[in-house]
This record gives sequence, structure tokens and C-alpha cells, in this order.
Amino acid sequence: MYKPTAIVTGGAGFLGSHLCDKLLLEGFKVIAVDNLLTGSLNNISNLFGNENFSFVKHDVTNYIFIPGRVDFILHFASPASPIDYLKFPIQTLKVGSLGTHKALGLAKEKKARFLLASTSEVYGDPSIHPQSEDYWGNVNPIGPRGVYDEAKRFAEALTMAYNRYHGVDTRIVRIFNTYGPRMRLDDGRALPAFVGQALRGEDLTVFGDGSQTRSFCYVSDLVDGIFKLLMSNEIEPVNIGNPAEITIKQFAEEVLKITGSSSKIIYTELPVDDPKVRQPNIEKAKTILGWSPLVDRQKGLGITIEYFKKKI
Ligand code: NAD
Ligand code: UDP
Repeated sequence: MYKPTAIVTGGAGFLGSHLCDKLLLEGFKVIAVDNLLTGSLNNISNLFGNENFSFVKHDVTNYIFIPGRVDFILHFASPASPIDYLKFPIQTLKVGSLGTHKALGLAKEKKARFLLASTSEVYGDPSIHPQSEDYWGNVNPIGPRGVYDEAKRFAEALTMAYNRYHGVDTRIVRIFNTYGPRMRLDDGRALPAFVGQALRGEDLTVFGDGSQTRSFCYVSDLVDGIFKLLMSNEIEPVNIGNPAEITIKQFAEEVLKITGSSSKIIYTELPVDDPKVRQPNIEKAKTILGWSPLVDRQKGLGITIEYFKKKI
């Protein structure tokens, strides 16, 4: 029986590797393409030896050559945590612009369906709450986060242009903060930072007064939503995330409680342009995809903390 072939750029990263697992489970052949800038072969070591999986080490800002038939391209390559994209600002801009251009060019050549991993960061520091897909955002183009936010906004514009002018079959997912096993302990994001600090008995570093909010989605829910979007007919962006909103201070307290840690919380400087609120409106995903998240924070955090315990 014919197996559709999917390319996952950024396939050795946190989300990309979970997507590879999901696509293989759904009966696809998968080619992960990654330059290992922020990803790791450890994330896909379970897949080496699987005859339907292959890995290509390549920087997707350069021409991508893949022989044979390709049915789907999921473009996930990009530094994604604030620490990573501040460390690699030019690479972030390049992979969002040149990398998206190369991946779309490959989709056009192969007549493959293309899915872009976009982000809630396109909404910037939002003045609409919760954020729905028709909100155009409030982004500072020249601030430190601009390298990521504007690259993703450009990537969305390029994806829509390839759809409209070249007839490429495209999808855009706007991903909200997602967590789970295979996150790096040192990627600087709130969840691995707090869990790592709690498990090591260090102070938890809450930035600002901790009144800013986020809404955390467990990775299996995200991957299910993305797969449903890939299989749907929706061209315009769809939010995927868990609407359970929490302040960062409450979140730090929750991590202390679940880990049973006696660490303290300390308050440090708030990063420039840190969004004050973030919560996905997921009505569109519910209606069009019949999707909503199933894993609550209590359960998802439990699994993730067990994963991090083994890493420390
Ligand atoms: P990650 O850093 O774990 O994965 C990104 C992968 O892309 C890494 O394996 C990295 O080596 C690879 N990469 C970077 N530049 C590349 C290049 N030029 N060529 C080839 N590979 C390259 O991050 P993640 O959290 O898995 O994020 C994956 C995608 O999802 C990103 O596009 C990110 O913007 C998006 N996203 C993630 C979240 C989240 O909460 N994790 C939220 C919103 C959007
Ligand atoms: N944050 C924090 N302490 C940390 C890391 C992050 O208080 O050690 C805050 C950060 O300022 C932001 C929130 O937690 O308000 C979520 O940050 P993260 O880096 O996870 O993702 P973001 O949503 O900002 O992209």
C-alpha cells in the first residue's frame, strides 16, 4: 500500500520530533531535515532503524534537494525559545524568511501540501484578549523579539502568497506555548527553567512581578491538532493551544507544589516587550477541526517533571 511521504523541517527539535512520531504512527514515510542548531539527534534516536524514517542534516535556508515523491512538507525549523532566538537572531530571521521560501519552493516543485509552524508571537503584546485569528497583532519590529515575531509574520505572508499566486496547497498553525518531554532544560523558557530550578533546589526566577499570563498546552494535544489541520481544507491560520490561562507567579507556585520543592521564588527584571497576557481563542479549531485539548496542566506537568527528573 502507498505510504504518503512527509518532510518535517526542524524534525530533530522538540515539536518536530513529536510530529515525526505522530506521522509515522499515522502510516507516513517521514524525512526529518534539520541542521541541529537547537535540536538534537537524541530527540529522534528512537526512530533510527525505522525503515519509514530518514534524517537529512541540512540548513534549510539553502536550496533543499530531496529526490522522489513528497506529499507533505511541515516547516518547523526555527529557534523557538526567547533565549534561543536572542542568541541566534540572524539565523532566526533567515530560517523564517529564506528557509520558508526554500521549503515553499520545494512544496511547489513536488506539488506537496505545505504546513507552516507559526506562533502566538505574531500577536505580539496583544491588545485583544483572548487572541483570535482575525486579530492582526501588536508587534515591535525593532525590539529584541522582532527577529522572531517579524520572521514568522513574513513566513505567514509568504505562505499565503504561494497559495494565492502559485496555487500551493498551504496550512498555517499558530502555536501557543507548548511543553512536554524533549524540551531542553536550558532553553530558558519558563517551564523548563522553573522545573529545573525546583528540582535542583535553586530559587525560581520569575521575571517582573509575575502578573503576566500564559496558557500552556501539552505536546500530544498540540500534535493532534496539527495533524487534524494538515488533513483539513483550512487555508487561513488556526490557533492551536490550551486556553487554561495562569499568571507566571501562580505557575511558579504550582511547579513548587507539584515537585514538592522547598525552593523560593525571586523576582528579576522583565524582558523587553514580554507580552502581558496570552490566551488562545480556539473556537475556530473546535468548529473546523473538531479539536480541543484533552490533557490538563496537572497531568501534563506530572509527565514532564518525571522526564526532567531523569535528565538532572
Ligand atoms: P526547537 O528549537 O526544539 O526546534 C527547532 C528545530 O529547528 C531544531 O531542531 C533546530 O536545530 C532546527 N533548525 C533551526 N534552524 C534551522 C535551519 N536553518 N535549518 C534546519 N533546521 C533548523 O523548537 P520547537 O519548540 O520544537 O519549535 C518548533 C517550531 O514550532 C518553530 O518553528 C517554532 O517557531 C514553533 N513554535 C513553537 C512553540 C512552542 O511552544 N514550542 C510555540 C510557537 C511556535
Ligand atoms: N519567565 C520567567 N522566568 C523564567 C523564564 C520565563 O518569569 O525563568 C517568564 C517570561 O518572562 C514570560 C513567561 O515566563 O513572561 C513565559 O516565558 P517563555 O520563555 O516560556 O515563553 P514566551 O511565552 O515568553 O515566549
